[in-house]
Amino acid sequence: MASEKQSRSVGGGSICFGLVSIPFRLYTATSAEKVEFNLLHEKCGNRVKSQPYRCPACDVELDKTEIVRGHEYEKNRYVLIRDEELKSLAGEASESMEILEFVPLAAVDPIYYEKTYYVGPDKGGDKAYQLLSAAMRQSQRMAVAKFVMRGKENIVLLRPTASGLMMHTMFFADEIRAFAWPSPLKLSNTESELALRLIEELSTKAFEPEKYSDEYRDRVLALIEKKARGETITLAEPVPRAAPVVDLVEALKSSLGKRKTAVSAKPAVAAAKKVAKSK
Ligand SMILES: [Zn+2]
Repeated sequence: MASEKQSRSVGGGSICFGLVSIPFRLYTATSAEKVEFNLLHEKCGNRVKSQPYRCPACDVELDKTEIVRGHEYEKNRYVLIRDEELKSLAGEASESMEILEFVPLAAVDPIYYEKTYYVGPDKGGDKAYQLLSAAMRQSQRMAVAKFVMRGKENIVLLRPTASGLMMHTMFFADEIRAFAWPSPLKLSNTESELALRLIEELSTKAFEPEKYSDEYRDRVLALIEKKARGETITLAEPVPRAAPVVDLVEALKSSLGKRKTAVSAKPAVAAAKKVAKSK
């Protein structure tokens, strides 16, 4: 399920597509809001109740102008932040994003993706924006572009979607860590065929992110709810670590045909882990 939070504009500029300049705005696409603010009564510094705004300490109804935002950095201690200050931090950078080249959609390894933004047209840019995104969609290509954001030069990717453009900030090649991949082992035909059959069995037509949720967070919330109701909590036994698979072919065979009984994603993940562990 997508978040209820609306994306908000974090800047803009213009895309230089050859000699065509396309004014755009950037919007947060993923959860970027980590800092939480509370509303405080400016005069006394106490937390304000909203709708209607009311200070419980002073016992008065408040006007919007009497309220400031505060971030609780320690229990009951707030740093006051004014809207103007936040705006200046957001750095309304109006910079140009210069398209350097176009590459096939599948040409970029996701390891290079850093953060994702929505790109929307700004005033006067609708037609050129739609032309560019439609043409990129049709040619199945992404644009590599140079973009300065908050003083930092970024190489970004513009990616066409069914509805418009997305922007991904990228890691530079020298920011990607080296990794010692395992050396390839000889695999038998039987092993490969069984693995392919298992993949086939666990395959679906499309990725549906709504099917998955943060189960750890769900469990924490359930625990909090139970505690709030005054229930005593029995700690569950930790799940024992799966032993390494000794017979790969046997393990693959017994994994097959289990799809109908298990619709959730867990068996697939468990099976994948088992295979991965057997060297
Ligand atoms: Zn007050």
